[in-house]
Amino acid sequence: RVPAPKNEPVLSHAPGSPERRELQATLKRMSAEQLEIPVIIGGKHVRTGKTDTVRMPHKHSHVLATLHEADAGTVEQAIQNSLSVKEDWARMPFQSRAAIFLRAAELLATRYRPIMNAATMLGQSKTAHQAEIDATCEAVDFLRYNVHFAEQILAMQPENSPQTWNMTDYRPLDGFVFSVAPFNFTSIAMNLAVAPALMGNVVLFKPSNTAAYSAWYIMELLREAGLPDGVINMLPGDGPTVGNPVLASPHLGGIHFTGSTPTFNVMWKTVGENISRYKQYPRIVGETGGKDFIVAHPSAADDLEALAVAIVRGGFEYQGQKCSAPSRIFVPESMWPKLKPRLQALISEIRMGDVTDFRNFMGAVIDEKSFKKTSGYIDLAKNDSGATVVAGGEVDRKEGWFIKPTLVQLQDPKHRIMREEIFAPVVGLHVYPDSKYVETLREVDAAASYALTGSVFARDRKAIDTALSELRHAAGNFYINDKPTGAVVGQQPFGGSRASGTNDKAGSLLNLTRWTSPRTIKENF
Ligand code: GLU
Repeated sequence: RVPAPKNEPVLSHAPGSPERRELQATLKRMSAEQLEIPVIIGGKHVRTGKTDTVRMPHKHSHVLATLHEADAGTVEQAIQNSLSVKEDWARMPFQSRAAIFLRAAELLATRYRPIMNAATMLGQSKTAHQAEIDATCEAVDFLRYNVHFAEQILAMQPENSPQTWNMTDYRPLDGFVFSVAPFNFTSIAMNLAVAPALMGNVVLFKPSNTAAYSAWYIMELLREAGLPDGVINMLPGDGPTVGNPVLASPHLGGIHFTGSTPTFNVMWKTVGENISRYKQYPRIVGETGGKDFIVAHPSAADDLEALAVAIVRGGFEYQGQKCSAPSRIFVPESMWPKLKPRLQALISEIRMGDVTDFRNFMGAVIDEKSFKKTSGYIDLAKNDSGATVVAGGEVDRKEGWFIKPTLVQLQDPKHRIMREEIFAPVVGLHVYPDSKYVETLREVDAAASYALTGSVFARDRKAIDTALSELRHAAGNFYINDKPTGAVVGQQPFGGSRASGTNDKAGSLLNLTRWTSPRTIKENF
């Protein structure tokens, strides 16, 4: 049996540390190269000639790679290739499949560490720390814990009687899994492909074009770890061009998705339209958007510093581009006079810029589309008499897609900025009368359609219990006296419900069971 893994330790990258030197050298080498990222089918590199460029968000004149996008023909080729390797992979003993992914974890924790961190910094504008906790630590954790949880699933066997032997055969799904990844987490992109593959499925992996740079290195890592050709085929490209033929295939066995709610809804509808074509009902697993909250209770007054840090770190780390980032804050009147200047001070100290300068705490938002959308929300705040920009509010697109960390106070707790997912460093805040704690909790529950993460800050035990009960369905990951970001694999299984997804808890036994179609076998003696 594989012993229970430990979480991969986070390296500090402190000045003078060997890991910082290695990362700096890798950043220098990689940013001087120009990659050509192909479609990958059966281990072969397919250059479709329909190209897009991958640029550094914090320096958009710098092209990191040319990306070949999949077209209808390559998608069909990829489906056929997946089906042709499917049986061999499904019949490979679990231990052999597991060994490949454990070797990938080992390679990632060592030689690939600076490569994956650098790719995530350059391509997705993460700071060294944000890259380390994602592209290395969380990714390594996914690989190791998945093997550990999969073993527990395989060990779940039924009772026998003296005359019969009963068994559960955890077959993979009868078809391929379509894994569709977001730009914001390299580890999530990897896990979307790897979790179904570990359970014996073949996977069509569609990375986000904006994160294709790190996706390329994920494929390199898995190839080097010994993953057979074709088990995971990579299809970068335009959503509908790749998605429509894949979702229309009779062999669709499942969807493993992380991304926006509207995209997930379109995919679900497409599955509905195609339902009579499929050989099986596809498994649909999705983690989508969030409008995550922090509610402070008056009894948290002594923890004002912890609350301020949670708002700033939660809201602005990785430019607020985490599904889990708190973007609506509820503060009691009695705390606001002290909290406001503290937040303004902390936010004004934030350094933003090129993430390869290790002094910066924030980089740029992912692309021009996000920059424009976010600028629109900032304009909305500036032009609304019910809104006050407490901090930030400036944008700068000259070199990179930079949005200053922005805090907006809103009189109306149901304001658009308090309800709509912006996915950028814009945080809404509402000050409520101390006597209206319970009413505020009810408002938090009712105002947004999402239910991913949320926090309550309180010392009064009753106030904590009231929040747990009033907000029972408002968050799949609920934090008490902590920021609602940074879930750790094996410790806080991650996922939400309502418009935030199917809540199948990434990096857990619950997620992995979705990639199996168990067969019950009874044998009479
Ligand atoms: N698991 C991440 C966290 O806890 C967020 C994942 C996401 O953004 O999709 O912060």
